[in-house]
Amino acid sequence: MKNIFLPAASILLFCLSDSSAIDVSNPPQEQASAPKSDAAAPAEHKAASSESKLSPADALERLKTGNKRFVTGKLEHPGQTPRRRSDIATAQHPFAVVLTCSDSRTPPELIFDQGLGDLFVIRVAGNILTDEVIGSMEYAVEHLGASLIVVLGHERCGAVKAARETLAAKGKAPGHIQSLVKALTPAVEATASADAETTAKTNERLAVQELRSSTPILSEFIEGLQIAVLGAHYDLDTGAVEFLKEAKP
Ligand SMILES: [Zn+2]
Repeated sequence: MKNIFLPAASILLFCLSDSSAIDVSNPPQEQASAPKSDAAAPAEHKAASSESKLSPADALERLKTGNKRFVTGKLEHPGQTPRRRSDIATAQHPFAVVLTCSDSRTPPELIFDQGLGDLFVIRVAGNILTDEVIGSMEYAVEHLGASLIVVLGHERCGAVKAARETLAAKGKAPGHIQSLVKALTPAVEATASADAETTAKTNERLAVQELRSSTPILSEFIEGLQIAVLGAHYDLDTGAVEFLKEAKP
């Protein structure tokens, strides 16, 4: 795994993001004292070794650098060789968790130009939060050593569009799609007079807020400066990922 040591740049980047989630002047230490809540987890999936663990700031920098390669077409396709596959066959240490939409145009490994074992990816239409989604994140943070959680929504999201139209018509979506509408309702109601992109970004921010207060695991890791949680929005036209600043919905 490549390690990126750009402390000054990382601090600057985090100044552009939310500074309440992590004190970048005091980089997180290794996870030796991290709270453990699931003693039954497989031994090979315990937290990543300290030498391979990135700080939240370095993890964000790695995503931004990879996305820049994607946008400019200068892809490196890292970690996709048979050697890499073999190296991580018995243990994984993804540096970041990405929750994103199931949309076929938003695969995180491609958008961030990452390889096998780099990202712990959770995908569901509308990048909504459920207990299962949060449980997956907790596992990645507590047992696999991921140091960054990104909630990545995107431009022209069909789930957001469907939720806006369904609620505007005071109707109900067919089948289980209604469950997506229900999950997106807070963001839609908060942005009734705005456009769909504002709704999508609000959905991303609301998810970040919920994750930061999620007890007992995620909030403890955040308070311990071991992880950061950020919202992000993907531009289908340019391929660029915008990491969101904190703002009221
Ligand atoms: Zn979508």
